Amino acid sequence: MAKDSTRLYGVIGYPIQHSLSPAIHNAAFAAVGMDALYTKWEVAPGRLGRTLKRLHHEGVQGLNITLPHKVAALKAALRVSARARAVGAANTLKRTPKGWEADNTDGFGFLRALLESSSWRPKSGKALLLGAGGAGRAVSSALLDAGCENLVIADWSRGRASALVRRLRARKKTARIVSVAIEPGALMEALDPRGLLVNATPMGLKAGDPLPFPAKGLGRGNTVFDLVYNPVRTPLIQAAGRAKAKAVTGEGMLLYQAVEAWESWTGLKAPVSVMRKALMQAL
Ligand code: NAP
Repeated sequence: MAKDSTRLYGVIGYPIQHSLSPAIHNAAFAAVGMDALYTKWEVAPGRLGRTLKRLHHEGVQGLNITLPHKVAALKAALRVSARARAVGAANTLKRTPKGWEADNTDGFGFLRALLESSSWRPKSGKALLLGAGGAGRAVSSALLDAGCENLVIADWSRGRASALVRRLRARKKTARIVSVAIEPGALMEALDPRGLLVNATPMGLKAGDPLPFPAKGLGRGNTVFDLVYNPVRTPLIQAAGRAKAKAVTGEGMLLYQAVEAWESWTGLKAPVSVMRKALMQAL
C-alpha cells in the first residue's frame, strides 16, 4: 500500500498489461527494505508528453518506457545520455529536479547477458543481426561499443536496415557493417560458422511464427541469442539446440536492463538474484 512517503516508479506502454517489470522491480525494493512501489501506466500514443509532465509533477522518481513510446520519450526528456542518443530511443527515465533524464539500458542488458551466458566475444567475432527496430538499434550499438568490427544487419524493410547501417558506419568508421536481404541463401551466407546470430524481430512471440533464420544454416560453432523471452524456449532457440549451437534466451537481457535502470534510480547495488527469481516466477 502506497503512503505519502512511498517513492513511486513505473512503466509506461501501450498495451502494458503483459509487463513483467513490476514483478522484477518490486521484488528488488522489498529485498533492500525500500519504501517504494513500481506500477504500470497504459498511455495511448500521442498522450506521452502530458503524462510525463503529470508524473513528474506528482513526484514519480523513475520510469521505464516500452512500445510504442521509446522514441517519443527521448524527445520529451530534458537531458539524454550518450547511449540513448546513440540508439535514438529511451527505455528508462530518471527524475531530475526540472524534468526527465533519458537513458537506454537495453544494449547494456543484452551485452551483460551475452557475455555471461556464452563465450562469443564482440572483439573477435562476426555478428548477424535480424531486425533493425528499437531493440536491433540498441543491440547493434552495444556490439560496436564492445569492439565488434564485423556486423551484418537484415530486416524485412531493407530501407530500415540500410538506414541503421549508415548510422552505425558514421559512428564507427573502422568496422565492416553491411545489410543483407531477408532471403534464405543470403542469410545463411551472412552467418559466419563461428558467428553470433541475434533475433531482434518479434518472430517467435506468437505460436506458429516462422523461424526468422533457416534452421539448416545453424551449426555447432554458432551462438544464437533470441531477444524474444516469452516463451523462453522459442522455435529459434529450439532449432539452435538441435544444431548444437550455443543458445542464449532473452530473459537475461530483460533482467539486466532492469538491473541497470534500478541501480541508476536508487544508487544502490541491485539484488540481482532476487530480481532473477521474480522474473522467472512471473514468466
Ligand atoms: P520493432 O521496433 O517492431 O522492430 C522489429 C523489426 O523487425 C521491424 O523492423 C520489423 O519489420 C522487423 N521484422 C519483423 N519480422 C521480421 C523477420 N522475420 N525478418 C526480418 N525482419 C523482421 O520491435 P523491437 O522493439 O525492436 O523488438 C523486437 C523484439 O525484441 C520484440 O519481440 C521484443 O519483445 C523483443 N525485445 C526483447 C527485449 C529483452 O529484454 N529481451 C528488449 C527489447 C525487445 P516490420 O515492422 O516491417 O514488421
